[in-house]
Amino acid sequence: MQTSADLCAHLRAARPGPPPFRERLALDAAHGPSELIVSCARCGATALLELLDWAGPRRELRVFRASGIPRELVDEFRGRAGRPSCDLRRGERELEAFLSHAGSVRALLAWHLERDALVALREVAADDGVPLGAWREVMPPREDARWFDWLGIAKV
Ligand SMILES: [Zn+2]
Repeated sequence: MQTSADLCAHLRAARPGPPPFRERLALDAAHGPSELIVSCARCGATALLELLDWAGPRRELRVFRASGIPRELVDEFRGRAGRPSCDLRRGERELEAFLSHAGSVRALLAWHLERDALVALREVAADDGVPLGAWREVMPPREDARWFDWLGIAKV
C-alpha cells in the first residue's frame, strides 16, 4: 500500500512516448482533462496531475505539474465520490480535503492528448517557482511560453 505522498521514481523518470499511466481518473475538465489522478503502470503508485498551460488549436498539448498522492486516499475518495448526497457543497469540500493530501510538485510533464503521448518531462526543484494555484489562475498568457521553454519544447 502506498502511503507516501511522493511522486514515484518511475513517473519522475518517465521518458517521451506512451504515457506510463495505468489508470486515469479525471477530476476536472476543460476541452479535455485539466486535473486528474493517474497511477504508475510499473508500481501502481498514484499521482495528481494539474494543468499549468496548454497549446495547439484544440488545446491538445498540455503541461501539467505532477505530485504524488497516497493510493489509500485515492481509493477512499473514489468510494465516496460514487455515493449520492443532498448536500451539493459536500462533493466540493471532499475534493478539496482530498487534494490537500498531495505531496509537493516533483515534475512537470507535457502530454499530447490527441496522440496520447508524453512529449517531455522534467523534475522540479523547490526553487523552480512552479505556481500552485488552480489552472484558471496560474495559466500564463498565450504569448508567454515559460513552461514550454522550461521543458525544451515549442508552444504551438
Ligand atoms: Zn512507479
